[in-house]
Order: sequence, then structure tokens, then C-alpha cells
Amino acid sequence: MEVTKNHDFGTRAIHAGQRPDPTTGAIMTPIYQTSTYVQQSPGKIIGEYDYSRAANPTRAALEANLADLEGGRYGLCFASGVAATGVVLHLLSSGDKVLLGDDVYGGTNRLFHRVFTQLGIETVLVDMTDLDAVKSMMDERVKLIWLETPTNPMLKIADIAAISEITKGNDVILAVDNTFATPYLQNPLALGADIVCHSTTKYIGGHSDSIGGALITNDPGLYERLKFIQLSEGAVPGIMECFLLLRSTKTLHVRMQRHCENAEKIAAYLDGHPKVEKVIYPGLESHPQHELGKRQMSGFGGMMTIYIKGGLEESQAMLEKTRFFACAESLGGVESLIEHPAIMTHASVPADQRAKLGISDNLVRLSVGIEGVDDLIADLDQALG
Ligand SMILES: *Cc1c(COP(=O)(O)O)cnc(C)c1O
Repeated sequence: MEVTKNHDFGTRAIHAGQRPDPTTGAIMTPIYQTSTYVQQSPGKIIGEYDYSRAANPTRAALEANLADLEGGRYGLCFASGVAATGVVLHLLSSGDKVLLGDDVYGGTNRLFHRVFTQLGIETVLVDMTDLDAVKSMMDERVKLIWLETPTNPMLKIADIAAISEITKGNDVILAVDNTFATPYLQNPLALGADIVCHSTTKYIGGHSDSIGGALITNDPGLYERLKFIQLSEGAVPGIMECFLLLRSTKTLHVRMQRHCENAEKIAAYLDGHPKVEKVIYPGLESHPQHELGKRQMSGFGGMMTIYIKGGLEESQAMLEKTRFFACAESLGGVESLIEHPAIMTHASVPADQRAKLGISDNLVRLSVGIEGVDDLIADLDQALG
């Protein structure tokens, strides 16, 4: 049976873009580990494929699957999340300007500021939760708005629909990095975004075993341009990675449900804990954009940021004591992780920008996994002492 967009997310996650292999009936899309394809005669290809940088059947299944989950017509996969981001930046020309969310992923910030600035593309940081600030920064040189929501690590939520109103009719591309929410919790294209970006390394992969990225769009013109850059630059994923991701997306909805459930319980436990100054989690009513989050997302996700009472010493002590929460960068895997943004993931963000955002020495970020929640709470309990 063909899957349609009316089918449930879980049904689409398992079936979209995939069908049993016509020659063997294999239910899983095979790993077409091939670089090239035999032609009947010069230029007369047998199927749809001639060279795997351009296209490969395993990758094509993944691209169709991810596009479907985001409610988009076209998907493109890349060797990493930052490779996908770079492809969007290559749509721009020297002299163009970008409005970039002020607490985007550190590697995104680095790519915009330290690689593309050299090519004459100017990047201006904006707090995307402040619509007036976004409006006031718009001018005819702005060609791209790039935002994340929720952000990393402050979990600020930007109003995608309202920002898309600002870009409409202005020849400005709105790109949303949906890595934290995943297509299960939020679909930026439906809210007016032109391009959705993912680091599939995180929740989409979900098992901390591969690096990858993806772009999804509904716009055929944009798709052709992005696909041309994908082909020309060649930052495509390996075929084994594509297979692993096809395996992962089949459980994305189940994993996300548990990530959300566990995170909500842990947020409730930490909120008001005597050793915790503050918990930032979009599911808490104290979160400044809680209502917007409720409207824009179907769940609040597995990411959480807490301020520990004290300073560097206290937060470091906690990170040394947790056992199930492993001290590591990255996020979105089945296993829980804990990290110190000022020292680890956000060390490359200049100190004054970190201070402005609130990334202080007592800030700790949790990626809540899908272990038993009571065990996770007990782990945090002993680590906080
Ligand atoms: C990790 C991450 C990226 C970069 O992805 P890589 O796969 O590491 O290249 C981009 N955006 C967000 C929000 C991320 O968490």
C-alpha cells in the first residue's frame, strides 16, 4: 500500500520512501554499496542512476523518507549537519547579508562567521524571539534568515509563522534548523519556512553512531539549486550511513514520545530542587515562550538546561558524579548525556556573547535519553548530593 500524507507519522516513518526490493522481496532497503552503474550503451542508463555522488538508491529512499516526515516534497542528504548548512549558504552571493539566530549551534555560528564572511557574506546576530528586532534588521541586502527553535542551549523558541510573514514577498529565504524538535514535534515548512535543516546525527539518527545532515523543501526551484550544489560540492553521506538512518527513522516517533515523557518528569523533579537555581525546559510554565511552544510544537522534546546553585566547582562536581548521564558533547541519542556548555559545546562562542546569552559557569545541559526515568532521576539525585 502507498503511504500518503494522511497516514499517521509512525506509519510514514516506517514506510515512506521505501518498498520491498523488487528483485528479492527484501523488506529493508538494501545497502547499494556502489559508486557507479552499468549503462546499456553510452548515455543509456538502465535505471535512474549513473554515479553515486549524484544519486544512489539507498540515499534516495532516505531522502524521500525524511522529506515525507517534514511534510516536504524534496529531501537532500549530506555528510553532516554543517555540510547541509554550508549548501544553503552557497545559495548566496558576495554582498548578501544573513540574519542568524543569536544562540545557534556553535558550529553553525563558526561556519557563518569564519568561513562565509571571507566570501563577502555578512552575518548579523539577532534574537529571533524578538520580532521587532528581526523586523528592524531587514533591508534589501538580507537574503537569508537562519534560525533554530528551540535553541541550543538556552531553549528559546522563535515564532516560525510570524518570522515567515516578515520574509514573505521580500525575496528572503527562511531556513529553520529543526534538529532539536525533529519532524515528530514540529514541521517548519507548514509554518512558512522555505528550507528545513537537520543534523541527523542527533535525534533522527538517535543512536549516537553516525554523522549526517539533511535539507528539506517544498519549493522546486530551491530544490534544483540545492541539488546542483550537492552534486557539485559532493558532501554526500556514505551509503551505510543512509541505511543506518533508514533504520533509525522507523522508531523516531516512539523514541521522541519517551524523550518527551522522561524530560517532563525530570524537569518537574529538578524544578524547585534545593541545589538547582533554575530549570529551562519549554514544557515548564515558567519558560518565557511556553505558550508559543505549545502552539508550535506537539511536545517539548528531550533537551533541558539547568543552572546549578554555585559556580564552576559545583557544576563540574555534578558532571563528574553522574553515571547514566554520560559527560559528552552531542545530543539526541537513546542514552542520556550531560555537558557543560561554557567549557564544551559553546567554548568557541566568544566569552562576551556567552555572557550575553546567559551561558555561565553554573549552566549544565541535559540530553534526556530513553532509559527508565526513575533510574535517571536517582542518578541526578545522587550527583546533586
Ligand atoms: C549538531 C548540530 C548541528 C551540526 O550537525 P553535525 O551533524 O554535527 O555537523 C547543527 N545544528 C544543531 C542544532 C546541532 O545540534
